[in-house]
Amino acid sequence: MIHVDKLTKYYDELCAVDQIDLTIEKGEIIGLLGPNGAGKTTTLRMLTGYFLPTSGSIRIKDYSTEQHATQIKQLIGYLPESAPLYHGMLVYDYLQYVAKIRGLSEKDRRNRIRRLVDICGLNHIMHRSIGELSKGLKQRVGVAHAMMSDPEILVLDEPTSGLDPNQIVEIRDIIREIGKEKTVILSTHILSEAEATCDRIVIINKGKIVADGPTEMLKQSVGSGETLHICLKNAAFDQVVSKLKGIDGVLSVEKNDSVNDNQLSVNLSCSGDESVREAIYSAIKQTEWVLLEFRPESKSLENIFRELTKEN
Ligand code: ATP
Repeated sequence: MIHVDKLTKYYDELCAVDQIDLTIEKGEIIGLLGPNGAGKTTTLRMLTGYFLPTSGSIRIKDYSTEQHATQIKQLIGYLPESAPLYHGMLVYDYLQYVAKIRGLSEKDRRNRIRRLVDICGLNHIMHRSIGELSKGLKQRVGVAHAMMSDPEILVLDEPTSGLDPNQIVEIRDIIREIGKEKTVILSTHILSEAEATCDRIVIINKGKIVADGPTEMLKQSVGSGETLHICLKNAAFDQVVSKLKGIDGVLSVEKNDSVNDNQLSVNLSCSGDESVREAIYSAIKQTEWVLLEFRPESKSLENIFRELTKEN
């Protein structure tokens, strides 16, 4: 549905987006992840036709952003990072206003607003002033605005930025609901959220795509080993290193910040074989150390993200 080919954007000398290739199928929920300044917003702005690329192309269905800016804008609902709302208006009036400028007839307006009120959970705030709403509620109104013309594609720039955990879950549920019918592209810093909300994650760093795939596939693609977390009492770090480092399959032993003076917390990077865990446990049993914790650290998206975007 969306084909991005060698998309590049320079701001004077600065290359913000560097030859990105991306294909997005209808109905996907895509999370664009990256550290600050990675080029996420710039990419979204080019996708929405907000500005043109320096080079490369974007085709959405049969349209190109260069030649068919109006048609592309009709296909996309865009919620920028700060939702552009009129704070002096009531939610009801605001949605009516947006529907009118989108050219909806009175009947369509009524039906569409009713549907959006349902999806975005706005029923109880329709007669409140937008300026008085919490950030999470404002964001829901922003999503309703972006969805007013029933676009096929919804683009959300950091939709959960600055929201509290409850509001994040609410917006996540709304995005999932919308994603049942639409193609959704969102950017976020919150990795667990991308993991929970998106079918597919594209990690972008310094303007380039460094990983692209379903979360599970990304997890598998970055190394096959595992990290074991161990917490011990009555153990000194150098003793632990000499005892455990020699075990076949233990690749490194790293000290974590101490929990307290008596406890030692370490992470072992291992080859991932179950026999390695057994060997570690047997080695600890031979000592006077008290084993307080022994568990695998799950390879979270956060670790993967750090691995892929760390300097050098
Ligand atoms: P963040 O998560 O902080 O919003 P981002 O991944 O969205 O970052 P962009 O906002 O696309 O990144 O910025 C990419 C690079 O382009 C950054 O170095 C930024 O400073 C620069 N940049 C962005 N917008 C402009 C602009 N209008 N003029 C000049 N440079 C810009």
